[in-house]
Amino acid sequence: MIIQLHQSVRNNDLEKIREFLKNENHTTTQVKTQYENYLVCIGKKDIDIRKIGSLNGVKDVHRVSDNYKLVSSKWKINNTQINLGDNVFIGDGSPAIMAGPCSIESEEQVSKIVDHLVANNIKVMRGGVYKPRSSPYAFRGLGIDGLKMMHSCCRPHGIKIITEVMEMSQIREMYDYVDVFQVGARNSQNFNLLDALGETDKAVLIKRGVSGTIEELLYSAEYVFCKGNERLMLCERGIRTFENIYRNTFDINAIQVLKDKSHLPVIADPSHGVGIRDYVSKLALASLVAGADGVIYEVHENPEEALSDAQQTLNFMESGKLVNQIKTLSSILIQ
Ligand code: PEP
Ligand code: MN
Repeated sequence: MIIQLHQSVRNNDLEKIREFLKNENHTTTQVKTQYENYLVCIGKKDIDIRKIGSLNGVKDVHRVSDNYKLVSSKWKINNTQINLGDNVFIGDGSPAIMAGPCSIESEEQVSKIVDHLVANNIKVMRGGVYKPRSSPYAFRGLGIDGLKMMHSCCRPHGIKIITEVMEMSQIREMYDYVDVFQVGARNSQNFNLLDALGETDKAVLIKRGVSGTIEELLYSAEYVFCKGNERLMLCERGIRTFENIYRNTFDINAIQVLKDKSHLPVIADPSHGVGIRDYVSKLALASLVAGADGVIYEVHENPEEALSDAQQTLNFMESGKLVNQIKTLSSILIQ
């Protein structure tokens, strides 16, 4: 059960609500986010919610039968929209496009990609600076200097930045340069990192774990939400299965299921989802048909020379074509 409290709830009223729930054998967790004040109540017994609704300080009460609560679609009528500023919204009904290289490599590389984004009206740039790599000898990113490069090139154009944060200690140094913190597949269940991101007010995109279930992804989002940050997006990026002809099995089913189970925006990452350049664009389009609120994909001026994920990265021509196809598709989907 979720109780929405009035922002101005008085301490003694809050105590009375908690006391009432304790007597009904429910545990309560207070969650204050940037927008709302909630009490998440967990317990077996059915309570007559009318009795709670009449207590001082209570704005609304919702029964939520799912085990994850705050991210569940069971209590929230409208889907969550995320405002990144400068008129950039995620989940507003038009497909969000986030594009950029797997890794930030140099100022020259960033500047060429930003020109491509501007030319195609792409409002969010992706680019890793702390890279989780399977081999410790692979390129592991330029770190904070790479992020500063990205920032100084994107800001004049109002382009928003999404980049992966790999550990708690990086949050503070990255904060001023980031619009969306990405939690990578390998960190999808790093609960300390999720807790720490819950204490920030930045938007967070959480990727599904390499072998993570849909429910585990929803719980990961619940971690961030219940620490106080409700600016969240979920991301399907493929899972590991017995199939090995492509990099991952892109689970398009998950997009519909996540849209049904949660009110959070769902973003599809076909680049990591399939891992093969020739298939990325069609899967991006398929994700939007399946209900995704947006796509995130990798693009580079010379994909063959990219320092990471070259084999799945689109060139500028392919990316431009995809943007046009998304525009055409979205005019049909919106009808
Ligand atoms: C990435 O987006 O570059 C990345 C490493 O993604 P994932 O965590 O999905 O592998
Ligand atoms: Mn990548």
